Amino acid sequence: MKKLLLLSFLCITITSVAQDYNVDLDYYLPTDVTYNKNIPTPKSIIGHEVGEWHVTHDKLVYYMTALAEASDRITLENRGTTFEGRPLVLLTITSPANHSTIETIRKNHIGLTESGSNALTTENMPIVVYQGFSIHGNEASGSNASLAAAYYLAAAQGPKIDELLKNTIILFDPSLNPDGLQRFSYWANMHKSENINPDPYDREYDEVWPGGRTNHYWFDMNRDWLPVQLPESRARITTFHNWYPNILTDHHEMGTNSSFFFQPGIPSRTNPLTPKLNQELTGKIGNYHAKALDKIGSFYYTEENFDDFYYGKGSTFPDINGGIGILFEQASSRGHGQESDNGILTFPFTVRNQFTAALSTLEAAVGMRKEILDYQRTFYNEARSEGGSGAIVFGDEKDAGKTYELAQILQRQKIKFHEVKNDFTKDGKNYKKGFSYIIPKNQKQSRLIKAMFEKRTTFQDSLFYDISAWTFPLAFNLDYSEDVALSQAGEEVTDLQMKIQNAPNTSNYAYVMEWHEYYSPKALNLILKEGLRAKVGMSPFTLENVTYDYGTVMIPVQNQKLQGAALNKFLTEVSKETGVKFTGVQTGLTKGIDLGSGQFRAIEMPKVGLLVGEGINPSDAGEIWHLFDTRYDMLITKLDTKNFGRMDLSKYTDIILPATWGSALDKDDTEKLKDWVRTGGTLIGFRNAGRYLESNELLKMKFKKKQDTAKAITFEQRGDYFGAQVIGGAIFEAKLDRSHPIAFGYKNSTLPMFRNTTLFVEADENSYNNPIQYTASPLLAGYISKPNLEELKNTVPFKTGGLGRGQVIYFTDNTNFRAFWYGTNKLLMNAIFFGDEM
Ligand SMILES: [Zn+2]
Repeated sequence: MKKLLLLSFLCITITSVAQDYNVDLDYYLPTDVTYNKNIPTPKSIIGHEVGEWHVTHDKLVYYMTALAEASDRITLENRGTTFEGRPLVLLTITSPANHSTIETIRKNHIGLTESGSNALTTENMPIVVYQGFSIHGNEASGSNASLAAAYYLAAAQGPKIDELLKNTIILFDPSLNPDGLQRFSYWANMHKSENINPDPYDREYDEVWPGGRTNHYWFDMNRDWLPVQLPESRARITTFHNWYPNILTDHHEMGTNSSFFFQPGIPSRTNPLTPKLNQELTGKIGNYHAKALDKIGSFYYTEENFDDFYYGKGSTFPDINGGIGILFEQASSRGHGQESDNGILTFPFTVRNQFTAALSTLEAAVGMRKEILDYQRTFYNEARSEGGSGAIVFGDEKDAGKTYELAQILQRQKIKFHEVKNDFTKDGKNYKKGFSYIIPKNQKQSRLIKAMFEKRTTFQDSLFYDISAWTFPLAFNLDYSEDVALSQAGEEVTDLQMKIQNAPNTSNYAYVMEWHEYYSPKALNLILKEGLRAKVGMSPFTLENVTYDYGTVMIPVQNQKLQGAALNKFLTEVSKETGVKFTGVQTGLTKGIDLGSGQFRAIEMPKVGLLVGEGINPSDAGEIWHLFDTRYDMLITKLDTKNFGRMDLSKYTDIILPATWGSALDKDDTEKLKDWVRTGGTLIGFRNAGRYLESNELLKMKFKKKQDTAKAITFEQRGDYFGAQVIGGAIFEAKLDRSHPIAFGYKNSTLPMFRNTTLFVEADENSYNNPIQYTASPLLAGYISKPNLEELKNTVPFKTGGLGRGQVIYFTDNTNFRAFWYGTNKLLMNAIFFGDEM
């Protein structure tokens, strides 16, 4: 009998595993409702069952389009396209009755965030839930679950679903990262065996570089909710501010051996600007997830590993916008099924957990509807009352471009700002009309403004899931003051335009352009690409009563491909395209270096290679590719490390080595690279590539060795102890030697630098070799441990040295961080254009 029982138990186990790979739609769906036969199932449109294959983005869109056509509960809109041209679709799901008055419902809902909201009643107001799936493309169970979830919402029948749809507006975003999802689905599907092989060593579970996590330019899009630099984020943030959702869910995956995580995260790591009630409500919503997962027998955990600190993440961004963000993390099968500590983790199982959490979110939304709506109203009432009366000013009298880019972020985040009424000076900085803007503190988004502008240096916890500081005016290296009178404000800016400079006056002698504008490298590249000669001035000079700073670019008129009126016309076009100002001058005689001086050095047209592929950190490489390609319109060749040995490097003037993962180049590659530098190449390395440059004698420098001995730390505390020594991302002040070419285009003598490494390079004994050096008290914002701060003081984030006829340049940190660290982008451009002069 016992034997028989065991045998039948085994049979059940075996069949259930077998079934888990080949499930039908019923595997996911609740059985307490009936389903409308007129609504197409996913399989009837895309040709396979949910979880049988990894859905491609194309098929996902086919299905959502078909659902929207078949169901009067669903409308579909296309909000733009990804870099690869895929549609960014959004489904709005609610009852047909709500659809017929959707704009009124939306306006009423927005009313909760405006002044006068107390006059509104929330008794019968629907709650707004934004459900977003798989922002990391290779965490695909979310987007695959969206097929079943959308089907359920369209097809389920009965009083329960009617109640849900009556009380909820669902903004349903089936794929937050279409390009990444498509890239990953092709990988998982192309390696699927007829007999699914759960061996983790199978190629199916090990994507080729750079993987599907990121978008087209290899950005982690779940860091871009606040800076909004990527097209996918722009579409999403527009929807967000159009609706101010009460709950926003963000479906992810984590390690294969894990279970399922839902927020709240670690309490001590919640951003202090987030109201306490937000986390309490998150906990209460969590009870719904727990109940639903208990019911299907799935394990889960909460209040560990993940946090709610950086507002640029999807699950944290809503917390500073009157909503509640919720992170879901499902253990990943990565392909169709994989062995794990919890037995075989099948893909359909992961999809079912995501589906279940999507539904329990909606159940919580209905159950807690009034409570959460009232929370939102209170959030904005309090935000308005604590804003204060003054204003913030930011800008740069020499850089309208960067000022414009920060203003664009404010506009995307629905923060109101004004022109300055008249030019004025504050704390020694000039704020000029067109080059600066004023933000009144007393406005609806006062908390978001605080989150973007504050410089926090004290923290309850010393561990961070992500960066600990992101102060925007520091990231942009803009002058700013948080303490100006509102009376300095002019007209509110409602139609932001990039500043257009006056067309240059005609010259038969030369044109000059200062190097401060953000887009001046783009302008210089256009000039060189046209085949025109340009030179850079190594010193300041005064000409026709105007003073020009270090690094001013001069374009002679004579002996050029374009001359006279044609050159003037060309530079006028360049100015229009880049916002950079050119001045035609009538004489070469200056106070300072004359235009014919040897202190004007010829600039070579750069031909830049970027190392990518196995061994290279894709995020860092992608940021550089994106910077060149989308900001400066400069060609950059992506050199794959695996073919490096076969490449002819002689055509490149510059090669960039981003941060690495282990070793990117072997011994032969390294010798080849060294030979190329010796013959005149400029090699530019970032972050841990410095260890490689140093150990291979490409660049002489001394890294400080830190002694790390744990004292009075228990076994249990060891993780936190080492975690606290990490610099996850904070902002530090460096002083600049403005006469050094690396600092050309910087008008101030200090520069805020972003740092996310613990590499400390000792300063050179010759001070002229330390053009960028951390100050004696460098912390501006963010977390750093006391011992690390001691180490950091007076070290250098930049090092350069000659090798043969070439040059090696090194940055300890990422100057191109996440496409929003505009303030240090010019450092890399200076290395590219002026590296020969260092
Ligand atoms: Zn993720």
